[in-house]
Amino acid sequence: MFLRLVETADVLIENFRPGTMADLHIDYPVVSARNPRLIYASAAAFGQTGPYSQPAGLDLIAPPRGKSAGARRWPARLVQTRRRIETVLGQLAERYHAKLLIIGSGPAGYTAAIYAARANLRPLLVQGLQPGGQMTITTDVENYPGFAKGIEGPELMMEFRKQAERFGTEFLEEWITHVDLSERPFTLFTDDSIIKAETLIIASGASAKWLGVPGEAKTPKGFGGNGVSACATCDGPLPAFRNKRLIVVGGGDTAMEEATFLTRYASRVYVIHRRDKLRASKIMQEKAFRNEKIEFIWDAEVAEILGTPEHGVTGVRLRNTVDEEHFTLDCEGVFIAIGHKPNTDLFKGQIEMDNVGYIKTSHRSTATNIPGVFACGDVQDSVYRQAVTAAGTGCMAALDAERFLDHLPVEMPTKYELVINVVAAKALGLDVPAKLLALADEVIE
Ligand code: NDP
Repeated sequence: MFLRLVETADVLIENFRPGTMADLHIDYPVVSARNPRLIYASAAAFGQTGPYSQPAGLDLIAPPRGKSAGARRWPARLVQTRRRIETVLGQLAERYHAKLLIIGSGPAGYTAAIYAARANLRPLLVQGLQPGGQMTITTDVENYPGFAKGIEGPELMMEFRKQAERFGTEFLEEWITHVDLSERPFTLFTDDSIIKAETLIIASGASAKWLGVPGEAKTPKGFGGNGVSACATCDGPLPAFRNKRLIVVGGGDTAMEEATFLTRYASRVYVIHRRDKLRASKIMQEKAFRNEKIEFIWDAEVAEILGTPEHGVTGVRLRNTVDEEHFTLDCEGVFIAIGHKPNTDLFKGQIEMDNVGYIKTSHRSTATNIPGVFACGDVQDSVYRQAVTAAGTGCMAALDAERFLDHLPVEMPTKYELVINVVAAKALGLDVPAKLLALADEVIE
């Protein structure tokens, strides 16, 4: 289906966001690379003036259709991108056909794998870029039941993995680049393979959020990796931060945990919080308040991270949120701990999510709006977000997938949501090719 769409399309959009298409009218066939559905866009939306202009919110990898040959010419970078996609697609082979594919290797993904493997589903688990998930960047886990003395996050994840392996889970160390959930078996693409899956469990977790202030970007644009980090456990022990003044931004449990952890290495840790009350749990707050190396700076936001390429971070410019005054605080390291964002970009436009991007599941199960696709862990939980709750929902997802497979065949919705507005096309003086009309789910005449 995807190949057919790519062949049919004049324009390939890298990153399709459904909301952005609302104002578009008809002009020529467009296909989304990540969300392979045929959609329409208008010349107006793509800009009439230059040979190439990019509408807000869309990353185009194709030229606009203009009147002159020049206007239709593809910018070299975009030609390469399209050729690369076509070549890659041409070479891709279906390497796996899984009864159950699990995306994600945190507590949710591994627990789903343990249950599914024990049920003889022979799950295939795609680990993603951070095998073990967020737990691998945490230190002592004191609240995971069964470990009275606590356990290190990475060690706990290794145990999860071994348990999943013991019952026959197959692991794939690849990164899913796009998915097609429009028909079952679902199709998932990695850089060098196509995976077909009868059922899918999404356990792709969440990632750290960033402030978006000057100086925060990765080097060389900012000081990311040169004094700015979002993971104290990973970077705190580095020599660059030893006996240095460090700041932690945030007022939640992560910020308290990171600040407390950093006192092992830093000479002083400042917690910068935008309000005068912490969001963190009482026990974590008290632990931080008791620590003499930690100082709280209330009602303050980071406006800019200061430094030089040679020395890295040298300070931060802060803004008082009450009186708007700006002031500078000297420090050598900045740790951002302001929460997380669900890793759901891959599925945007294909599965129901809330406005933050958490996948919606039904109240009593891990079922999503797509039959055969289940979601568990932080990717669908904006409330509890604990390893133990993630593991619990991972178990639920495996049981849900197993029950779903028991009751096959289940009808999949066949809609590709291609709506062709012939009236609008005529108003623009455009003809809609018959081959496209034939693909339409709905034609507005
Ligand atoms: P939270 O969402 O709980 O807290 C985020 C903090 O960052 C808040 O204080 C928030 O401020 C602040 N913040 C958010 N955006 C900005 C911004 N743009 N600028 C400045 N400050 C900002 O996230 P956490 O990661 O701390 O915790 C997530 C979940 O994980 C929680 O449920 C927590 O309990 C759990 N957790 C548990 C741990 C444990 O038990 N060991 C360890 C770590 C996390 P404001 O308060 O004003 O909104």
